[in-house]
Amino acid sequence: MAFGLVKAFRAQTSKTLGKLAFAGAIGASLVAGDVVAQQKQPSPGSAKAVFGSVKLPTQGAAQPIGFYAKGCMTGAEALPTDGPTWQAMRLSRNRRWGNPAMIGLLEKFSQDARSQIGWPGILVGDIAQPRGGPMFNGHASHQIGLDADVWLMPMPDHRMTSEERENLPFTTMLQKDKFLTVDPRVWTQQRAQLLMLAASYPQVERIFVNPAIKKKMCDTWTGDRTNLGKLRPEYGHDSHFHIRIKCPPGAKGCTAQAPVAAGDGCDKSLAWWFTKEPWAAPKPPKPGAPPPKPPREVMVSDLPKACAAVLDAPSVASMQAATYGGPSAASALTAAPAAAPAVDTGSALPHVGPVPNDKPAVQ
Ligand SMILES: [Zn+2]
Repeated sequence: MAFGLVKAFRAQTSKTLGKLAFAGAIGASLVAGDVVAQQKQPSPGSAKAVFGSVKLPTQGAAQPIGFYAKGCMTGAEALPTDGPTWQAMRLSRNRRWGNPAMIGLLEKFSQDARSQIGWPGILVGDIAQPRGGPMFNGHASHQIGLDADVWLMPMPDHRMTSEERENLPFTTMLQKDKFLTVDPRVWTQQRAQLLMLAASYPQVERIFVNPAIKKKMCDTWTGDRTNLGKLRPEYGHDSHFHIRIKCPPGAKGCTAQAPVAAGDGCDKSLAWWFTKEPWAAPKPPKPGAPPPKPPREVMVSDLPKACAAVLDAPSVASMQAATYGGPSAASALTAAPAAAPAVDTGSALPHVGPVPNDKPAVQ
């Protein structure tokens, strides 16, 4: 089912992109935003609607259940809205929840980024919903608390208000008037260092970046390239990168993803993104053929069986009680009520996917 969903994402992406790619200059974030805007309102009872309306995580031990793009989780913890080296963004989405292994990594990464490369602090985007599961908008994965988005802009020198966190625009790293090209006026070596630092942790299995950013890294990274293969080219991901960690040790219900292929990934698997194929419009239907059925929505019953029980499980007492570092770490900056299930038409994360398997299949 996850693959069906992913295919639907891909088909929709291709359709949109097909109209635009090569017909003129495109900005990848603009295109991806367009795709997000086209997503339909989820039906009541769909997994997106049900998991998207849950406000608090379950009590008990943290367990990822299922796969990154088809699952849920128990015992999530919230990233505090503020730490010495991070600020959480888009608080109204209520997606600061993750497996403690991911929240702990974000803390460590943000500290290392400051001490090792002088990055002032990280801006953290979506992690997951309180009990994981599919989201109303923006992502195919982020369902089991082991995925997190980090902005490619540094934390500002002041503590942002909730409004600033909602409204701070995304900054693309791409040149708007060129196809898949990093903008040299925005891109910096420090950003390259940030990506390689994120890739350096053994528990990090993949980092999704725009193909143009991957190419830039391939062309310019002169340091140790051992972890460069963890950087995976993917649609969108031009204003943020996406960190994916492995199933934590002992997480029996977590479905692992195949490890990335050996090598730095600066090969034909990257070159493919610079061909027409990923951006091509789907083939037109044969004359007289019935119109293709719209993809079926993912229902709770399509997810691993345990996810229905996760929805019924008792909640923690409060967001503060389940905040990483304990209630004292919970910020006074309270989130606005969780966003209503609405289609986001512009402020949505310019993000499609990532798909669970990297393309092309042969790598
Ligand atoms: Zn992401």
